[in-house]
Amino acid sequence: MVRSGFTRICRTSIVFALILALLPLCPAARAVRCADVDEGEWYAAAVEEITSLGIMDVDENGCFRPEESASRAIIVEALWRAEGRPAASGQAQLKDVPAGSASVDWAYEAGVVAGDENRLFHGDSPVTRQELAAMLWRLEGRSAHRRALNYADNADVSDYAADAAAWCRENGLFGGVGENRFDPQGLVTRAQTAAVLCRLLHLDGAEPPPLTGCVICVDPGHCVTPLAGKGYRDPVSPLSNETKATYTTGTQGKNLTEEKLNLIVGLKLRDALRELGATVIMTREASEITINGVERCTLPNRLRADVAVRIHADGNNDRSVHGVCVMTPDGDLLGTPSIKDESVRLGRLMVNAVAKSTGAKNRGIMPRSDLTSFNFSEIPTVLIEMGFMTNAEEDALLETDEYQNKIVEGMVESLLEWYGVK
Ligand SMILES: [Zn+2]
Repeated sequence: MVRSGFTRICRTSIVFALILALLPLCPAARAVRCADVDEGEWYAAAVEEITSLGIMDVDENGCFRPEESASRAIIVEALWRAEGRPAASGQAQLKDVPAGSASVDWAYEAGVVAGDENRLFHGDSPVTRQELAAMLWRLEGRSAHRRALNYADNADVSDYAADAAAWCRENGLFGGVGENRFDPQGLVTRAQTAAVLCRLLHLDGAEPPPLTGCVICVDPGHCVTPLAGKGYRDPVSPLSNETKATYTTGTQGKNLTEEKLNLIVGLKLRDALRELGATVIMTREASEITINGVERCTLPNRLRADVAVRIHADGNNDRSVHGVCVMTPDGDLLGTPSIKDESVRLGRLMVNAVAKSTGAKNRGIMPRSDLTSFNFSEIPTVLIEMGFMTNAEEDALLETDEYQNKIVEGMVESLLEWYGVK
C-alpha cells in the first residue's frame, strides 16, 4: 500500500516521542490537561496526545472545546503540523489567505485542499466528514482501497469523496455512525479531528484490526414478544403465497429456551467481531422485539451489510441426535448474483471451524429453500444450528460459557477466512 505521508508522520512522531520521553527533564513540555475534557470521554486520550504534540491548540482558558466544529483553517493547520510543518513556496495561491500562511500554502500545493472556482479557501467554513476523508486520502497519496464502499448511505457520498471514504474506512480512520452510516454531510468536531489525527499518526506502526471496514449482520434467531400467538405470519419467499408464523421461541433445553441461547451467543459474537474492527448490525440485542421475519431478513440488505449470520439451536424428537450444521440458501430468489455460492463458501468454513473448535459432530451444510430469513436476502447469509438442545449431553454443553465461547471462536475463524484476512 502506498503511504506517501507516513514516513514523514513517522519521523515527526519519533521526534515527538523523543520529546515526550524527555518530559521529566523538561518542565516546559508536559502533557496538556484540558479543562473541558473529561477523562472518561472517548476522545480524552486522543485530545491529550494531539495537544501534547502541539498538533492542535488549547485556548487561553485551557479549554479544547471538543464539541465545536472544526474549520478548514484548523484542520489544515493540524495536518500541516502533523506532517512536520513542511515548507511551502511562500506564494499565496488562494485569495482569502494572507501571504505567509504556510499551512494553507502547503496544503494547496500538496493537493490536500483546493480553492473554490474564485480561488477562495474559506478558512472559517466548517468541514464535513466527507471533506475530511478526502483531505486525509489526498494527503496519503490517494492510496487504493480493497473493498467497495459499504455504508448504508453510500448514495449520499459525493463522487469526489467515495474512494477517500472507502480508504479511510478500511484503514480504521473513520468509523460509521449509527447503523452503518457514513453521514457524509455531518460536521466534524474538534474532538473527532483529534481522534482521526491520532489514528493517522498510529496507522504507521500497525495494521488496523483485520475486520476493519467489514459490515456483518448478526441475527440471533427467534424472540419473545406480546405479538406472539396473535396470528402474525410472514411470507416464506417473495415468490410464493406460503406463510409461516412470525414470532416463535424455537426449541427448548433443560434450563434455557433457544431464543435465550441464541441471544447469548449472538451478543458474544457481536463483541468478538467488534473487537476485530468489524461494524456489527444486530437484528436484536434483547429477548423482546417486534420486527417481523421479512424485516429481519431485509434489514442487513438495507444497511448494506456484507453478510448476515443467523444463530439457532436445533431440536429433534429423537433425543440421541446431536451435532452442528450450517444452513445455506438453496438459490438466489431475488436474482442477486453469487449469494448462493458465497453463502455456501461461508457455510462450509463455518461448520468445519465450529466442529473443530467445539469438538461437536460435523453435520455439514444443508441447503434450504423454505426459510424467510434466506429468501429475502440480497447478501450472502448462513444459519448455524449450534447443536441440539433436545440432546441432554449437548444441551448441557450449550449452556456453558466455555462451550459458547468455542462456538464463537469457530464462527469468527470462519468469517476471517471468508473475508480472506487470515
Ligand atoms: Zn431456531
